Amino acid sequence: MLKHTLDDTIAAISTPVGDGGIGIVRLSGRDSLGIAGKIFKAKDGKQPSDFKSYTTHYGHIIDRISDPSGNGIVIDEVILTIMRAPRSYTKEDIIEINCHGGITPLRKVLELVFSLGARMAEPGEFTKRAFLNGRIDLAQAESVLDLIRSKTDTGLRAAMGQLEGALSSDIKRLRDGLVEIASHIEASIDFPEEDIETLSGSGIKLKIEEMMDEIKKLIDGADRGRILKEGIRTVICGRPNVGKSSLMNSLLREKRVIVSHIPSTTRDVIEEIINIDGIPLKIVDTAGIIETNDLLTKEGVKRSRFYISTADLILFLLDRSEPLSMGDKVIMDEIKDKKVIVVINKADLPKRLEVGQIRKILHDKRMIEISVTEERNLKELEGAISEMVWGGVISADHTVMVTNSRHKALLGRTKDVLTRFLKNFAEKAPPEFLMLEVEEAIDSLGEITGESIDTDILDKIFNDFCVGK
Ligand code: GDP
Repeated sequence: MLKHTLDDTIAAISTPVGDGGIGIVRLSGRDSLGIAGKIFKAKDGKQPSDFKSYTTHYGHIIDRISDPSGNGIVIDEVILTIMRAPRSYTKEDIIEINCHGGITPLRKVLELVFSLGARMAEPGEFTKRAFLNGRIDLAQAESVLDLIRSKTDTGLRAAMGQLEGALSSDIKRLRDGLVEIASHIEASIDFPEEDIETLSGSGIKLKIEEMMDEIKKLIDGADRGRILKEGIRTVICGRPNVGKSSLMNSLLREKRVIVSHIPSTTRDVIEEIINIDGIPLKIVDTAGIIETNDLLTKEGVKRSRFYISTADLILFLLDRSEPLSMGDKVIMDEIKDKKVIVVINKADLPKRLEVGQIRKILHDKRMIEISVTEERNLKELEGAISEMVWGGVISADHTVMVTNSRHKALLGRTKDVLTRFLKNFAEKAPPEFLMLEVEEAIDSLGEITGESIDTDILDKIFNDFCVGK
């Protein structure tokens, strides 16, 4: 829980833990400069309190507390950077100490600043201060997290756009529009003789409809935003021995980004993320999950359906050297309503598969013949995936993208409230009643940018951050 006040001075190691060339200890708050003065000995003899903002200084960190002689023990040779309030990330005085990498000097410096009154920063607290001190709004603060975690260039650009306030300015415009409508309604409450006639003549209906269109566009774009951020949930399925593991391994060899484990109810599923044309593909290793053998048991069907229903994309593998089997057909039935690429593997072997039979069930799906062993058409498969996802329409640089599920949910809520508003408006509901709905919509939008949000939610959002950001 983030229960501290803004009066504290906070500190943390802001670089990833581990051995590196340098590591940074960062301080923010009113005592930052004072603390720096007690531990930093500049080569040129100057005091941190005299340093100009946005300047760097070479010197040593000295521990004067542990050394009774008073001369102090040299902890590390460092570069110190100062950013004075209010022109800093948090709008407070910030000191960054570039230490030599390795956890020991960093920890020593951190312990030293704690002993002089700073306290450990909570996860995301630097960014939270930037928000609370009014430098950025909540949607921008959240995009900092996306920026740190983005796995591809396109994801990075979307997060950067949001950090620069692209989404925030759209939300602000919508919210301002609603505030204006609220003032119209308020006037009709205050001057009831003008009543609902004036309201209906004021173009409110049209304005709300326009806003709803805009909100709908933002919501529709959210799936693409999620894809950029989290990756396309991709499931490779097919009966045993068609080459699923071989394909997965071949894709991973060249394109792997990171590997992560997510616990599942049935077992640990291994998820791998690969990068295809800037699209993160989150591939679920389905070995043993979606196979015919599995689909023949009741429990297996349930499990497979779960993976199929949550997938954004299915790569359905068939063996070109074998006739279509019962097992293939069972899987086809399961996936026919999803986004599927039919991947016909083992193109190096004599053909025994009849494509016509596949077409009967999967009429409109893209088909591609490959050979994993001979690395034939793998580039074409990647091209097909990329085309399917982007469909040539994406331009992450210019589109305002909702990449955050919290934002999407709040936009959805706003849209529902406005739908209700329009219905009541048409039925000439009393203005007091309409007013409540407009206020609810204003609040929902305000939660996105943080203008109206309760502290619990705020704490939850920032707790997702890493310490030091
Ligand atoms: P899975 O059970 O679907 O995961 O299939 P595997 O990836 O384990 O592959 C089954 C067998 O097919 C292995 O012996 C692979 O070497 C072989 N195999 C995979 N891809 C190809 C291919 O393109 N051509 C040929 N000839 N064999 C392949």
